[in-house]
Amino acid sequence: MSVVYLDNNATTRVDPGVVQAMLPFLTDQFGNPSSAHGLGTLAGAALRNARRQLQALIGAESDDEITFTSGGTESDNAAILSALEVIPDRTEIVTSVVEHPAVLTLCAHLERTRRVKVHRIPVDRHGRLDIEAYRATLTPNVAIVSIMWANNETGTIFPVAKLAELAKEVGALFHTDAVQAVGKLPMNLKSTAIDMLSLSSHKFHGPKGVGALFVKRGVPFHSLIKGGHQERDRRAGTENTPGIVGLGRAAELALKFMDAETTRIKWLRDRLENGVLQRVPNSFVNGDPLERLPNTLNIAFERIEGDGILHLLDRMGIACSSGPACTSGYPEPSHVLRAMNIAHGAVRFSFSRDNDQDDVDRVLEVLPAIVDKLREPLSSAPEGRSAEDRQCGPGLSAGSTGDHS
Ligand code: PLP
Repeated sequence: MSVVYLDNNATTRVDPGVVQAMLPFLTDQFGNPSSAHGLGTLAGAALRNARRQLQALIGAESDDEITFTSGGTESDNAAILSALEVIPDRTEIVTSVVEHPAVLTLCAHLERTRRVKVHRIPVDRHGRLDIEAYRATLTPNVAIVSIMWANNETGTIFPVAKLAELAKEVGALFHTDAVQAVGKLPMNLKSTAIDMLSLSSHKFHGPKGVGALFVKRGVPFHSLIKGGHQERDRRAGTENTPGIVGLGRAAELALKFMDAETTRIKWLRDRLENGVLQRVPNSFVNGDPLERLPNTLNIAFERIEGDGILHLLDRMGIACSSGPACTSGYPEPSHVLRAMNIAHGAVRFSFSRDNDQDDVDRVLEVLPAIVDKLREPLSSAPEGRSAEDRQCGPGLSAGSTGDHS
């Protein structure tokens, strides 16, 4: 049975063209890009090429605004820690409640270990940022704002260009975790006030363990990793040449396919969304109905545990990620759905250019019966909580994906 892979926000298949581009750098062209001899020069040229390919994808003004890293997590850490070093007289960070743990865990750590105050901006039940609460936190004490471009669980897109302009008004740096947005949404960073942006190659058909941090020209930056002079002193350590070459090629392909593929992927996503809503009663979509990644469908099912659906789908050869229900005794709810006051088991289907209509039809074929099988009758609610409580629609307690991808 071939697998229907609908977990592309977790990771994507490496494109065969990317593998081809990487192969020489895993075999004959093994030079260290810092070496002065021919093999080193070849590797150095490959890095420059990858930097330009990525520059084109994100619309950066210059390729020297790009520093290669080990991925999204490192880039997020590097951006926030740099801001606290370069603006030492400011001790506040503004972020949102629905960020990836790469940001939230670091912020919690900084709160515990340094004299740093963290403001976490809430979201509404569609996952939309509370802009008034955001404005209210912006003062000259803020060193950095770190707010994601698009949410990994629901696909909700935040208005980062506008948020960056507001941050500038108080002289704060603006960083965005764009790990889920790069390669899926068109970008032209040179026309925005965004100072720093994190991205990760494995989310757009590149290899794992490689990513980049964009730092706008003129923005002061202190390296997280100390050592040699690689990456113009911004990230010490011998560069992962094959990975970076793969990232560059993946960026080139993402840009080439973006227009046509976005339309096609959104059509597939909408077909699945409408099909599920029609076939499965008491199901609803989590996330902003309009401002949402074209590839993401997070769908909740009343009176059901997301994990159960996930396991049965997996048995039927369908890979996606899950959201357990809110009720006590079930797995911990995700911070994202909890912040949105969503309390039902949820499943995230995320598409890529590898998917087609057969994938959607396969899910529609098996999902209604799975939900039917798992759905608890209203009368089987656990003692102490009414059946209605356990349905916990928006406005009650929480549900989860537990998946931080
Ligand atoms: N930020 C977001 C929004 C993500 O979805 C992920 C991926 O899981 C990360 C950060 C971490 O990226 P990486 O896996 O490259 O460290």
